[in-house]
Amino acid sequence: MFDLDKARRETPGVNHVVHLNNAGAALMPQAVLDAVKAHLELEAHTGGYEAARAREGELSAVYTSLARLLGCHPDEVAVVENATRAWDMAFYSIPFRAGDVILTSQAEYASNYIAYLQVSRRTGAVVEVIPDDEHGQVDVEALSRMLKKRVKLVSITHIPTNGGLVNPAAEIGRLTRAHGVLYLLDACQSVGQMPVDVQEIGCDLLSATSRKYLRGPRGVGFLYARREVLQRLEPPFLDLHAATWVAPDRYEIEPGARRFENWECNVAGKLGLGAAVDYALAWGLENTWPRVRALAEQVRRGLGEVPGCEVLDLGRERCGIISFTLEGYAPDQIRDCLRRQGINVNVSRAPSTFLDMTRRGIKELVRASVHYYNSETELERFLVALGRLEQEVRA
Ligand SMILES: *Cc1c(COP(=O)(O)O)cnc(C)c1O
Repeated sequence: MFDLDKARRETPGVNHVVHLNNAGAALMPQAVLDAVKAHLELEAHTGGYEAARAREGELSAVYTSLARLLGCHPDEVAVVENATRAWDMAFYSIPFRAGDVILTSQAEYASNYIAYLQVSRRTGAVVEVIPDDEHGQVDVEALSRMLKKRVKLVSITHIPTNGGLVNPAAEIGRLTRAHGVLYLLDACQSVGQMPVDVQEIGCDLLSATSRKYLRGPRGVGFLYARREVLQRLEPPFLDLHAATWVAPDRYEIEPGARRFENWECNVAGKLGLGAAVDYALAWGLENTWPRVRALAEQVRRGLGEVPGCEVLDLGRERCGIISFTLEGYAPDQIRDCLRRQGINVNVSRAPSTFLDMTRRGIKELVRASVHYYNSETELERFLVALGRLEQEVRA
């Protein structure tokens, strides 16, 4: 049995809001809040450098925790400002040349795709989009055919920002391994939501964030880089933390994933991320993931009964993100109206997942994203509130 009471008792925010914006930033559990606040107080009372030194052990434990979460070695993890920077540090390290092919997904996140376009313009590398299969997820057979070309990188979004789709990351990994092609996975929405094991998936590089399904603080993200791969990757930026100045004309790059980091960071945030990872591991992703999916299915069923509501989620396996539109209402109106009733949802717009949204003719949609600490009662409240919106439209 899932201990919902415990999950809610340990989440102060649930006393204030019905939070269905976990794909934006989830509510922090008390343990995370305590870790962040304690460090800020230590900084205020003893000095920032001194506080960091006093917490050296805990700071190095953050890497051990992330390594346990992802199934890798602590030296294969870099902690940076956010998932985008983590992804960038990996992507911009790859030495592309004219004619190299980058294979990506229809569900790709805007920041990633903008980077493909920039690098393609600079180097002559070519971006190709793998078609979707009949479920709306990456077509693995098509990918298998496309891998016969001169592919330098397969770069996929695991769970997109704009809906319930879960791309078949491990099936893709089996193919990239068989072809010896580099595989970068944007796991921003999946880490913390579902079990994500880098060995099982077979990716070489993976980026994710603290604030979304992991329930950590904002302003922290991280990168996994497989040991055998990272030695070949020279980060686009180096500082005195990523490298050491060893002679007047020479520096040495860090051997491990720390080469993707930079020296100054939000130490309290980093400790908060560590606390969030430990908290997620204590629950066990194998216990929370089925609940997230069940709650999302409850919402989809409920939305199916709201007149004028269209659920837009793609994929064979669907996650905790629910996307929909409601006839007669702009997504912004829905979000604002729900907000006035203490219910948080978000709006996704075409430019953030341009390919997917434009091919489906969607300009914007409402995104509701559930977490394991949401209660069935909260979901009912949300559905009732939406039902009332519809009555207002018809009145
Ligand atoms: C949120 C998101 C990102 C960006 O993460 P940040 O931590 O804001 O940099 C990247 N990819 C996907 C799929 C996302 O949903």
